[in-house]
Amino acid sequence: MRPLTATIRLSHLRHNYQLLKRLHGNKMLAVVKADAYGHGAVRCARALADLADGFAVATLDEGIELREAGISAPIVMLEGVFEPAEYAAVDEYRLWPGVQNQWQLESLLAYRWREPVTVWLKMDSGMHRVGFFPQNFAPAHQALRQSSQVAHIVNMTHFARADEPEQPMTAAQLAAFETAVAGLSGVQSLANSAAIIAHPAARRDWGRAGIALYGIEPFPGACPELKPVMRLTSRIFAERTLQPGEPVGYGASFITERSTRIGIAACGYADGYPRTAQNGCPLTVNGQPSRLIGRVSMDMLAVELDHHQGVGSEVELWGDAVSVATVAQSAGTISYELLCHIKRANYVYQE
Ligand SMILES: *Cc1c(COP(=O)(O)O)cnc(C)c1O
Repeated sequence: MRPLTATIRLSHLRHNYQLLKRLHGNKMLAVVKADAYGHGAVRCARALADLADGFAVATLDEGIELREAGISAPIVMLEGVFEPAEYAAVDEYRLWPGVQNQWQLESLLAYRWREPVTVWLKMDSGMHRVGFFPQNFAPAHQALRQSSQVAHIVNMTHFARADEPEQPMTAAQLAAFETAVAGLSGVQSLANSAAIIAHPAARRDWGRAGIALYGIEPFPGACPELKPVMRLTSRIFAERTLQPGEPVGYGASFITERSTRIGIAACGYADGYPRTAQNGCPLTVNGQPSRLIGRVSMDMLAVELDHHQGVGSEVELWGDAVSVATVAQSAGTISYELLCHIKRANYVYQE
């Protein structure tokens, strides 16, 4: 078997949920969209089933998958439906739809619900992606409130820059939200991971924790108590010692300066390790610090071995010694993208 392995520590997931929920107070959704950021949505949701107040997904299929796996807690569809016909399944599977525009609102009200539905009504407080503009929020709220088909309304918004704690935009979004919901009934949900950690004023009735749940700090130094849930590891399956002045890999982007012992690990960009990771990106060999050499290939990458053991050694691509955030920075992207892109790895779940 090819040795590329994503080890998912479910005890770390539970630790992170409890830590973030203590910080936020009240209730908190575990955001498990995109297959739980590449960690496996069903396994993660089951591991949190006795702790989590609810879960959040992006699509109807993701919500149905959790229900069919036996998850009975509330499940929010963050962006709502993509066509009115989806409401029948939203109803059948007892999901909580987001409503972020007029056609979603009207078709939700036109549908005949078996039981009154809980709606997450989204405001565009400044991110300018989806949601009702502040001036249109009260009319949307009123239309829902007047319907006997609607059980509860959760007033929600989302921050564009909560992971930049010094940035004034979050406070401006908060103020826009406050003004627009003044006097409106219903509970509130504002905070993603970064806001749960860095913006106490955004902690309301429901938090929505994603990246931090998986143990990744949303910005450097945010919360050292988080424990990384995933370790992505592989093994060295070939090695060689090169004379000074020899190239390594495609494009000969690395040239040895001295006699250099290198190892080849079974992991490449087709597995989700980023091709844009820079020469020298940190990793470990049998727990000892080492680095990436040259360009990442589709199925393998080169590692500086020096005095480390060779063939058979474990290489940690990210996890405990090297944060996925460090690799993401080297590759010019963010942890979220790397985690979502893992393919071809064996998943091993540890309780
Ligand atoms: C994905 C998402 C979250 C979770 O964000 P993190 O930064 O991963 O904590 C929260 N709210 C909404 C609306 C989202 O789409």
